[in-house]
Amino acid sequence: MDLKQGNKEFINKINNDTTLKNRRDELVKGQHPSILVITCSDSRVIPEYIFNTSLGEIFVIRTAGNVINEGELATIEYAIEHLKVKEIVVLAHTHCGAIHASIHNEKGRYLDPILNRIKLNIGNVDNEIEASKINALKEVKYIKDKFLEYKGNVKAYLYDIETSKVEEI
Ligand SMILES: [Zn+2]
Repeated sequence: MDLKQGNKEFINKINNDTTLKNRRDELVKGQHPSILVITCSDSRVIPEYIFNTSLGEIFVIRTAGNVINEGELATIEYAIEHLKVKEIVVLAHTHCGAIHASIHNEKGRYLDPILNRIKLNIGNVDNEIEASKINALKEVKYIKDKFLEYKGNVKAYLYDIETSKVEEI
């Protein structure tokens, strides 16, 4: 994996695609994404790919286990107040390492804020898919409680990394 080479290829791709190039140039004036997606940092879960979106279409927060702590809350506020996103989606996924670690009470140097939060969300549920769903639903409730004035939809989705299918929870 060579990031610099990857970027060269991306630039070539844009330069050979007028629609994409125009979109990029238009977006220099400002971004107006309509949806905020909060998902896991898992390298198999790439929201821009999964939802087949392009530059400027979705605003994304990624944290292990798609949980919301202080910094994420600030980013959500920005998305609601300044970007005026019309919808918020918490996108969980199958085979989530953070959910697995939380169920198995794993410890790390700095993992506590994430693992403790998941544990608080899922309680004693030990089925990983069920736990992922409950975790996402609890985060949806948390967002609704924190932004009572927000009028857009706040939904939880589950992405199946085996089939690439997304379903609403
Ligand atoms: Zn994950």
